[in-house]
Amino acid sequence: MGDKDENVKKMAELLRGGSTMLSHSCPDCKTPLFKLTDGEIICPGCGRKAVFAKPNEVEKVKAEEEASSELEAIVLQKISRIKMKIAESDDPEELGNLSKTMTSLYDLLDRVRREKK
Ligand SMILES: [Zn+2]
Repeated sequence: MGDKDENVKKMAELLRGGSTMLSHSCPDCKTPLFKLTDGEIICPGCGRKAVFAKPNEVEKVKAEEEASSELEAIVLQKISRIKMKIAESDDPEELGNLSKTMTSLYDLLDRVRREKK
């Protein structure tokens, strides 16, 4: 594992090469992960293909890869975030709001998926 400056340099190079920085970071070294132009996900810190320790991380990345549009990926990410909030919340009012939001997100997802066909 290289030092921080080395990572920053690598990340800058990746961005210049057209790769995109993902919202997930490497479970090993906490460096943000990058999606290369060929769709491969790598960790610039470890210098290898990203391996996820947490199953929900794998799900998130899979959702992003399966989503054929950016909007669909965003909606899927929001849904997984709301799910986590529901799991954490004990406040009935908040839970009500969260489930309402969840329903509209699923409606939106439905619509996005139907539109692309
Ligand atoms: Zn790493």
